[in-house]
Amino acid sequence: MGIIIFILGLIFGSFANVVIYRLPKGKSIVSPGSQCPSCGKNILWYDNIPLLSYILLRGRCRFCKASISYRYFVVELITGLLFLALYLKFGLTIDLSIYALFILCLLIMGFIDIDTYLISDIIVLPGIAIGFILSVIFPQMHYEMTRVGSLWYSFTGIMIGAGILIFLAMVGKLLFRKEAMGGGDIKLLAMIGAFLGWKCVFITIFFASLLGTVISLTLIGLKKKKMEDYVPFGPYLGLGAVVSLFYKGMTFLGFFIN
Ligand SMILES: [Zn+2]
Repeated sequence: MGIIIFILGLIFGSFANVVIYRLPKGKSIVSPGSQCPSCGKNILWYDNIPLLSYILLRGRCRFCKASISYRYFVVELITGLLFLALYLKFGLTIDLSIYALFILCLLIMGFIDIDTYLISDIIVLPGIAIGFILSVIFPQMHYEMTRVGSLWYSFTGIMIGAGILIFLAMVGKLLFRKEAMGGGDIKLLAMIGAFLGWKCVFITIFFASLLGTVISLTLIGLKKKKMEDYVPFGPYLGLGAVVSLFYKGMTFLGFFIN
């Protein structure tokens, strides 16, 4: 079963790659089929198998030999592994499919943020509503017995998620006299709160700040980034949310995370 879930993750990862590439360009995500960005030739179905095709073609287009970004491979692998990890945590449950959808949205938004410094409203706004509605329908997502309990938990997640970043944005504006936090980040943390509840919002911020600092300093140390470069916070919020998701049903600093 784990292998099937992993393969399913690879397929969804392949779809995520299409969305990451096409959504910012305003192209349809369903048609036409995939084409090589270099020579425009259609990619054959057997050259479009997640992970395998990239390895067999050695990361190059079959026709024009232009190199294909290794990121396609990475996104597929990450999605496969995260789906597998979700299965190991939640088993074959409705929670597995809900959080798989959630992680897929985070991945897509994170990579679009890296490329364009924008968080896509088309995903994040429905995401807030969907997270809230699913919380009401499936209270066990939040280890709650009643729908009222999970409704409240998700609602406070949205409010606290957005509230903290609005507060930080205002403080940042006062202190540095420039935009420190984008509106997209505010909506993204509201969506994370809708799916995971307010306790995970705090864990998300904790890990997002920690990983953001460590990774940024490493990139500066490796001279891949400069001190004054803009750092999109969305991918780190996504990373933090994934970490906090796996704290669900466990204790963090002595608190039970439901
Ligand atoms: Zn080509």
